[in-house]
Amino acid sequence: MKITFLGTGAGASIGTKRVKSGILINDSVLFDLGPGADLRIEDLRIHPNALFITHLHIDHFSGVFEYLVQRKIRQIPELEIYSPNGFSNVLNAYVNAGNNISAKVYEKELPEGKINELEIHAVRACHSIYAVSYIISDGNTRVLYTGDTKEPCDTILDNVKDVDLIIHESTCIDNCGNWGHTSIKQILNIFKDKKVVVTHIPVDIEEKIISLVNNKILVAFDGLTLNV
Ligand SMILES: [Zn+2]
Ligand SMILES: [Zn+2]
Repeated sequence: MKITFLGTGAGASIGTKRVKSGILINDSVLFDLGPGADLRIEDLRIHPNALFITHLHIDHFSGVFEYLVQRKIRQIPELEIYSPNGFSNVLNAYVNAGNNISAKVYEKELPEGKINELEIHAVRACHSIYAVSYIISDGNTRVLYTGDTKEPCDTILDNVKDVDLIIHESTCIDNCGNWGHTSIKQILNIFKDKKVVVTHIPVDIEEKIISLVNNKILVAFDGLTLNV
């Protein structure tokens, strides 16, 4: 399974060093598409088939509207968008305001789908608004992408047992549970024996996170590609 990190910044990140959330798997399925991540996918000149959205915070999905404009102009087939309920309200607001964009939208409490060889299903995350995490399998490898969640989150912890890689958010050094997030200290503590890549990192504290991690786990950066 090929995983490309398009955007590894948190909501609080500023500038272009770490744009907002987005990963791409096997060049065909996107998970979240925050502001800036849409430009990264355009730079790659790849046209994924589908996008799975974890939740409707702006840093996880606002890039998609600009991206849909570019797909429309270039007559690329409609993107399939899988999302918790509420996405189409936002899409329709853009359309009603006069934008020529469209997508095949599948809304569900726990989105799921099969795109080419990838089977994807959602589990509930523990965030400040309704949010899901995704389990992605290609038949050999299973990956969990958390999106935004605070830990400990029972549904996530139940599901990490049989995954090969956890792509987990880490939004602070210590104590961001009140905002629905997980700290790097918690990650190092809870997932000691697991293979973890952290993402969703505020650019202002990335050096501190990298030094705390001390090479024990991988800290993602924009453009990182992994084969797992
Ligand atoms: Zn976020
Ligand atoms: Zn969020």
